[in-house]
Amino acid sequence: MAEHEHVRVAVIGTGFGGLGAAVRLRREGITDFVVLERADAVGGTWRDNTYPGCACDVPSHLYSFSFAPHPDWPRTFSGQEHIRAYLEHVADVFGLRPHLRLRSEVKLMTWDAARLRWVIETSSGSLTADVVVSATGPLSDPRIPDIPGLDSFPGAVFHSARWDHDQDLRGKRVAMVGTGASAIQIVPAIRPDVAKLVLFQRTPPWVLPRVDRAISGPERALHRALPVTTRLRRGLLWGIRELQVQAFTKHPNELGLVERLAKANMARAVKDPALRARLTPDYRIGCKRILLSSDYYPALAQPNVDVVPSGLAEVRGRAVVAADGTEAEVDAIVFGTGFHVTDMPIAERVVGADGRTLAETWKGGMQALRGASAAGFPNWMTIIGPNTGLGNSSMILMIESQLNYMADFLRQLRVLGGRVALDARPSAVAAWNHKVQERMKRTVWNTGGCTSWYLDAHGRNTTIWPGTTTEFQAATRRVNLAEYDVLRAPAQGSAQAEERVEAGA
Ligand SMILES: Cc1cc2nc3c(=O)[nH]c(=O)nc-3n(C[C@H](O)[C@H](O)[C@H](O)COP(=O)(O)OP(=O)(O)OC[C@H]3O[C@@H](n4cnc5c(N)ncnc54)[C@H](O)[C@@H]3O)c2cc1C
Repeated sequence: MAEHEHVRVAVIGTGFGGLGAAVRLRREGITDFVVLERADAVGGTWRDNTYPGCACDVPSHLYSFSFAPHPDWPRTFSGQEHIRAYLEHVADVFGLRPHLRLRSEVKLMTWDAARLRWVIETSSGSLTADVVVSATGPLSDPRIPDIPGLDSFPGAVFHSARWDHDQDLRGKRVAMVGTGASAIQIVPAIRPDVAKLVLFQRTPPWVLPRVDRAISGPERALHRALPVTTRLRRGLLWGIRELQVQAFTKHPNELGLVERLAKANMARAVKDPALRARLTPDYRIGCKRILLSSDYYPALAQPNVDVVPSGLAEVRGRAVVAADGTEAEVDAIVFGTGFHVTDMPIAERVVGADGRTLAETWKGGMQALRGASAAGFPNWMTIIGPNTGLGNSSMILMIESQLNYMADFLRQLRVLGGRVALDARPSAVAAWNHKVQERMKRTVWNTGGCTSWYLDAHGRNTTIWPGTTTEFQAATRRVNLAEYDVLRAPAQGSAQAEERVEAGA
């Protein structure tokens, strides 16, 4: 990468967000852009998570781009390798390869107020960009809790998102820490091969059956011959989830019926009442992510599995010790303990107009206008930003809405003309955030009686969108210039670094 190369747009990340942004830029006629990626291949989440059993928990026909339908999904809930192959295919078909800068980790982005551009330092060199689209992913930096004694554990230790395939777990005693979406896929996948599986469960999840099946040859042939059938299938999957949203956001008590289904799912597989009691959540279903699995409970009922109803507190030699004092000797520890979601590392690396990092700006909680723009960070936007997550549907729907917003943002810059930048007004960010937080008050995520990764260190829900995907799509269709300050590069010789111009008037 040449020193101080300049591009119109720098996209960061090659997951669904970054690759989707790249496709959209090309469709908008913008070809002067790069996609910076720290890894050596595209795929994001689906490149990094290679753990046994890894699959999506939203049906594949919905968990894919609307502009790149895939008639050949092999299963209703496809596995990691197929989703990764799909993203590689997207990179090929849409001609994205020439834009990719792999092995280019973004170390620092600094706003240059005099020249209205971002100065970006990466592990492979520096460049500048008029606009930055940050798609570094909400679940891309694994979180391993600080456990006393972990450093001196003599066996293998790794996180689910960085599976160590050199470690052969067959015949070993394995501690699995955590009972989230990844752990419940790992447990049934490795259970038959390990000597012993000790599951550390701080809080039991609600688990519904996963109706996963192979998509038959004739079905796939139909989708290939009649593309409208793929769209109909996607539409149906989307509509069902859209109708469920009200129960999560406004009427959590209606979810009692779903709790009964989840309890029946457990009772079918777990006959031991003591184990059932340990596995039964004491909070409203939906408060934490509802998990889908038809083989998790049957795995837990097997004699080589111990469910410890407590978190891992300490490691002493080969002994893993739970907060309730339960102790077990193991050969390997696997952490399924989630990601840095509300404390994203990238926020430490973005330095805005006033010299503060995004992390400092967000110290009281993440917030961004329409989930995209943070005040004081001109021409910078994030994909899957604050309050854009979903509890029950496909994140690709939200990503595509954010890409609409990004496309309009770039159109507005073009229409304004010249060297120009848009900076979200603090009042607009605050008003948006207030509206979101007001709506959040009634939701199951805030009232369901649990603590979850949806909440930040202050107990505020800064991750989930409290509405339907249709509402979010409407809110992100257009950039409202009245919500932004328009910054213009100063005239030659001006003492001012930049000029703020009233917009939207
Ligand atoms: C195991 C797992 C299963 C999931 N299943 C589902 C599901 O079924 N349905 C659903 O809706 N969602 C699911 N998700 C959520 C998933 O994260 C999103 O759906 C989506 O894949 C996020 O895409 P993204 O592009 O925003 O982020 P990611 O896919 O995480 O991509 C981010 C990219 O940015 C790169 N990057 C990060 N920091 C830097 C840096 N400083 N410099 C350069 N590059 C950087 C990363 O290497 C990565 O390639 C799942 C997540 C996980 C972890």
